Amino acid sequence: MLNKIADYEPVVGPALIQELRLLAQHLKGRPMQHVNATAVGGGVAEILNRMIPLFLDLGLDARWDVIKGGERFFTITKKFHNMLHGRKEEISQEDLDHFQEVSQMNLKEMNLNADFFFIHDPQPIGLVHKKGEIGKKWVWRCHIDSTVCDPFLWNYLEGYVKNYDAVVFSAPSFSKPLSIRQTIISPSIDPLSDKNKDLSPEMVDQVLEKFKIDRSRPIITQISRFDYQKDPLGVIKVYRMVKRNIDCQLILAGGGATDDPEGLQILEMVQKEAQDDPDIRVLFLPPSSDIEINALQRASDVVLQKSLREGFGLTVAEALWKGKPVVASAVGGITLQIAHGYTGLLSHTIEGTAYYVKQILHNPSFAERLGKNGREHIRQNYLITRHIRDYLLLMLSLEKEGETIYL
Ligand code: UDP
Repeated sequence: MLNKIADYEPVVGPALIQELRLLAQHLKGRPMQHVNATAVGGGVAEILNRMIPLFLDLGLDARWDVIKGGERFFTITKKFHNMLHGRKEEISQEDLDHFQEVSQMNLKEMNLNADFFFIHDPQPIGLVHKKGEIGKKWVWRCHIDSTVCDPFLWNYLEGYVKNYDAVVFSAPSFSKPLSIRQTIISPSIDPLSDKNKDLSPEMVDQVLEKFKIDRSRPIITQISRFDYQKDPLGVIKVYRMVKRNIDCQLILAGGGATDDPEGLQILEMVQKEAQDDPDIRVLFLPPSSDIEINALQRASDVVLQKSLREGFGLTVAEALWKGKPVVASAVGGITLQIAHGYTGLLSHTIEGTAYYVKQILHNPSFAERLGKNGREHIRQNYLITRHIRDYLLLMLSLEKEGETIYL
């Protein structure tokens, strides 16, 4: 269901809704265009799906387009993604040439026509070439944890980045010395989406029955694309350590993304590792499994996010919003969401993660307190309404630099 901005008032209060309307008045009818690399799968698509209708409701002429590219292009950009995360990859001159050719092809074929462009992540970064022809305001929105980015790749990307008007990172630690403006805007979740809205206990039961999951024993869950950076094999190790003391089950649920060619390979590794244990459920979910994910998160006793690197980790916000105790790696944007011991638990190792999972399973009142605090932290900081406000403010500040805006 598509929501209107007014629907959020009971969740975030009237003041923020009023502020959004006042800010949006200054941008009425103005075209804004978002471009990314996939329409389904992963956090960026998740956010844009929900945000575009709300910008339209606020009176902006918002649209979202997806670049085209073949398998070779997305294999190269997945290497970029991994290198931004600090992983070693081989990139050849031919790879870079191909990246540029596909960028040129998209520049020719796409209708790039707006006053404000939000270009998400490295895949479409080359579209900024168009700025030389049409001007307007261009924002590169980097969702990836780039703290330990491979210097060769950063040097290459900087050739594009410096042509933008501003860069948006998800967390302070990702910022870099740059000649252009940079700002921090954390991602967000939508409390009214199928992924996050309240579900009746009957609905949760139905989904769990569909997957034939035993409700009588504790459930540990990680929801993520099957990606090396999400460390699904590490999650299995954590589960095995916990299992020595507590008869629990593990759900590893996720799907793929069209811009992530490594997914199937990782899924096969996980299935192989899990094949002899009926208490590990590996669920490969099709796109639009939002209700299923919502129910799995709600039915869990502990939610894990054992990422090796993480831009933000929407799955953490989703679980916290549902009042679940979360144990997650202290990486990237996860550390913004979890204050250790207050809104969840942060871990650094497989052993540490297993220890915290046991602590939560042994102590239901502690688990409940973490979940309650976590939900409030997300309400205050990481809901879609705050995110929209930050984008509106960014657009206004780019256009009216140095001017006072009277609301
Ligand atoms: N997600 C999904 N289906 C899946 C796996 C993940 O809908 O099979 C969603 C998940 O609920 C979250 C987003 O995709 O909303 C993942 O965002 P996150 O920031 O956690 O990680 P990313 O995939 O962007 O690295």
